[in-house]
Amino acid sequence: MVTGFCGGVCPPVSETRDGEGETAMPMNVKPVPTLDDEVNEVRLGTAEIVNQEILPNENVLYGWRSDGGRPSETQVTEAREVRAHVQNVVKKAKLWAPHLPPEFGGMGLSFMQHAYMNEVLAYSPGAASLFGVVAPNSGNQKILLKYGTQEQHDKWLIPLTEGRMQSGFSMTEPHNAGSDPRSIQTRAVLDGDEWVINGHKWFTSNGHAADFYIVMCRTADPDDPGGANEKMTQIIVPRKTPGVNIIRGVPVWGKASSHCEIIYDNVRVPKSNQLGGTGTGHQAAQDRLGAGRIYHCMNSVGSMWRCFDLMVDRIMTREVHGGEKLEDKQFMQGFIADSYMDIQSSRLMVVDCAMKMEEGADSRTDISSIKVYVPNAYHRVVDRAIQVHGAAGVSGDFPFAGMYEGARTLRIADGPDEVHRILIAKNVLRRYHAGESWDFGN
Ligand SMILES: Cc1cc2nc3c(=O)[nH]c(=O)nc-3n(C[C@H](O)[C@H](O)[C@H](O)COP(=O)(O)OP(=O)(O)OC[C@H]3O[C@@H](n4cnc5c(N)ncnc54)[C@H](O)[C@@H]3O)c2cc1C
Repeated sequence: MVTGFCGGVCPPVSETRDGEGETAMPMNVKPVPTLDDEVNEVRLGTAEIVNQEILPNENVLYGWRSDGGRPSETQVTEAREVRAHVQNVVKKAKLWAPHLPPEFGGMGLSFMQHAYMNEVLAYSPGAASLFGVVAPNSGNQKILLKYGTQEQHDKWLIPLTEGRMQSGFSMTEPHNAGSDPRSIQTRAVLDGDEWVINGHKWFTSNGHAADFYIVMCRTADPDDPGGANEKMTQIIVPRKTPGVNIIRGVPVWGKASSHCEIIYDNVRVPKSNQLGGTGTGHQAAQDRLGAGRIYHCMNSVGSMWRCFDLMVDRIMTREVHGGEKLEDKQFMQGFIADSYMDIQSSRLMVVDCAMKMEEGADSRTDISSIKVYVPNAYHRVVDRAIQVHGAAGVSGDFPFAGMYEGARTLRIADGPDEVHRILIAKNVLRRYHAGESWDFGN
């Protein structure tokens, strides 16, 4: 029987009918002639681990997630052992924590190198944690790195990077539009040398496991002097502080989740828990999201790559009416062509945007463009892969269900499509109003 989550037991699909003894279709990664040796080595080393250590073990690593039941003790132990093994292989290959500098146990990769690594590791959904880069911890680590004091590094950042602590990022509120960060109502008021925090948040991911949250707080009222973007401050709040009330994990896609609804009720933390200067919260959130969007989009490219491989394999091998292969059907050929174009265009847009960011050019229009385009392309690509697989496409034997939910969710999280479309149009119109037109070459 083929059970659980694809990978080692599913592809190549032609061999999976009886589910015995198959090997996963490896990801085809070769050196890219236009990239330097260092990036190519990172990509090839990552692909080797994905192909040899992760794909053949996906069913053990994640399989229990897909049958909806609670995993047995044996399954949990086996998954833990395989995870630890793969993480050791990753560390030995010096591919651990691509987002962190070496002094914090990371690879010290440049921005572009990290982006190019992500498209490879995301071929296996869930592999990020095996490479030590998991949201929201990774984003929090970057913010602590940039804005944290030495004391905050010692107390929060180092335990977080060493895996001794977990964290959450608590910004979105149920009663205010998350797409407009200026609407945040959670209030922090100074009382002597303590911040007193009151507010209501939800969708704080990893909320149950987190040892601390980075909470986005209003530290000035809307009509106080100063710009709208200088009225927020991020404050570190340990989960066990009196007044931190986790109401529930908000169910997502019909399943229990750790995206928590939290009420902060007269929560007192030392003033020294403030991250950066008072009023820098909005900027810190932008820092987190800007680079993060490139990484998320490259992850989506990697996941689309996997969908494409599985879809083409199925089209080549599945026989329909009268023994014809799906590959002889023009609808199916159209799926291949459309998915190819979706993946190529996404990848090139993200690489172009990342290069502009790295050069320090104004990349805001491109960041918004990829934030809209790539999750939508991912949504289309996984949707076609599901369609081609028929019932198997929505079963737990393939990774598509989780990918589909992920792609759909990405169109909302970190700024919904509409907000970014508006930003693109605003930037374009501003330039034309100034008497210039758009230069697509730059
Ligand atoms: C799985 C998941 C994990 C998350 N994790 C976190 C987390 O760890 N921490 C955290 O703080 N948040 C988290 N979020 C919240 C996420 O960032 C917000 O959902 C997102 O910013 C959108 O905010 P909102 O839900 O309040 O939607 P709203 O802002 O209410 O927007 C709802 C819809 O209105 C439309 N809309 C909004 N503005 C405009 C406009 N200007 N013009 C036209 N249409 C518009 C869009 O269609 C949008 O989808 C998570 C969300 C999900 C789904």
